[in-house]
Amino acid sequence: MLESIIASPEVVHYVCKRFGIHMSKKLGQNFLIKRGVVDEIVHAADLNAGEPVLEIGPGIGTLTQGLAQSGADVTAIELDRRLLEVLDTTLAAYDNVRIIHGDVLKLDVPDIMNHKQFKVVANLPYYITTPIIMSLLESRLPIERMVMMVQREVALRMVAKPGTKDYGALSVAVQYYTEPDIVMDVPPKAFLPAPSVTSAVIRCVLRKEPPVDVVDEKLFFRVVKAGFEQRRKTFSNTMKTTGLSKEEIEMILEKANIDGQRRGETFSLQEFADVANAWHSIK
Ligand code: SAM
Repeated sequence: MLESIIASPEVVHYVCKRFGIHMSKKLGQNFLIKRGVVDEIVHAADLNAGEPVLEIGPGIGTLTQGLAQSGADVTAIELDRRLLEVLDTTLAAYDNVRIIHGDVLKLDVPDIMNHKQFKVVANLPYYITTPIIMSLLESRLPIERMVMMVQREVALRMVAKPGTKDYGALSVAVQYYTEPDIVMDVPPKAFLPAPSVTSAVIRCVLRKEPPVDVVDEKLFFRVVKAGFEQRRKTFSNTMKTTGLSKEEIEMILEKANIDGQRRGETFSLQEFADVANAWHSIK
């Protein structure tokens, strides 16, 4: 059987017209119209037949089709109810796809994925990119990797190194939990409608162990948050946002062997961990 490729301008136009779908800006609906990009994403996901994969936001099924063709066991969560009957039609040829209606941030993802290890693949809705990534990472789900289309600017923040303008709390969190790399840049013309910014596909392979020893993760992320809260202030000063006294901050920094006159944005993961561990030790 000849399968028509959904990720093409003609098919996306045709499907939207036939079902009377007007893409919703509010839901971040920019559908892929370049099959080459779908193939790159599927390749980066390195899927095996029968392997569970979660797609967030299948839209009309452009990327879902590529995932289904890999033979993986595809579960796709879509918030827009109007798209459910569209997906029933566009993906009718594949019996390895299950569509679930709902908000990925509200559903019980581990339960949906049967508490088994899975991969995440998505062309993310840009209005909630960071909340989705952070919720997947923080909930410690058994994810092997995440391959996601995001705004290029966000991808650069995820891989940024200390002392650069893109380095921030997102960089630290992503690099603490995963090894991220940018697979490719994707121009606006690869989508319908074309977004105003360039996008990028990022692959985050989950680490088995964090790259630094952290005694108390909550404390670690409090220090990271404080470190980036007021970027132009010295680290000693921004640490005051944690409620610690000047004396306590001095004691912690001395124990961690850190110069408090530096800015938090220059700190490596190790240095944030040193501060958090020193704080924990004086508690
Ligand atoms: N995967 C399709 C593609 O690549 O052509 C569509 C990607 S589009 C950028 C994002 C999709 O996420 C839309 O279909 C949108 O309706 C859906 N979406 C938005 N918010 C969502 C949420 N909270 N949970 C699940 N899906 C959501």
